[in-house]
Amino acid sequence: MRILLVEDDPSLASGIRLALKSEHYTVDHLADGTAALAALTDGEPFNAVILDLGLPGLDGMQVLAGARRHGSRVPVLVLTARDAIDDRIAGLDTGADDYLVKPFEVAELKARLRALLRRSRGQASSVLECRGLRLDPATRGVSYRGEPIALSRREFTLLEEFMSHPGRVFTRDTLTRLVYGWDEDVESNAIEVHVHHLRRKLFPGLIRTLRGIGYVMDKTEPGVDA
Ligand code: CA
Repeated sequence: MRILLVEDDPSLASGIRLALKSEHYTVDHLADGTAALAALTDGEPFNAVILDLGLPGLDGMQVLAGARRHGSRVPVLVLTARDAIDDRIAGLDTGADDYLVKPFEVAELKARLRALLRRSRGQASSVLECRGLRLDPATRGVSYRGEPIALSRREFTLLEEFMSHPGRVFTRDTLTRLVYGWDEDVESNAIEVHVHHLRRKLFPGLIRTLRGIGYVMDKTEPGVDA
């Protein structure tokens, strides 16, 4: 899961980054509202946004309004220093999905984020289940037909993307962004290598390669009706 963190307080931003990275999240950070709006209207793949309201450049409300006007439906968790009811009402009208008032516990931020991601997938439970696989984002546990499977952080992230959107075709570029974000150096075949490992650890037909297009995890076994 790739998260865009928009926060201009350096120490808060680095604390949130560390906390989310220590889970399985890919985190990209921007400290400026104008850059945030550009990223959100540029077609960058993010699973969720954590958005501070008081920002240089455009403020958080302007970023949110701009992104929604542009058609972005990415789930947005707003951070606000002010426990002002007016801000919350305005934010909800503008299209925020949830709120967190500073100061907050990191554990609460993580829980809200999980809930946000779960709702955006239209699921009652955050546990993902598909084709004999079970993935729990809260515990980072993965099992196949009841057997626990050990995955690396990247493999977990990739599998979570596929299981969140069975049947969706991902390009290699999109997967690279979702797993690595902006600032990490990536070998051009990194995604192929992870997909190869997932197939080996789970089962060969788990993820299909669509040559020249990308990858897809089918909802059901090929040849079996849904
Ligand atoms: Ca701020």
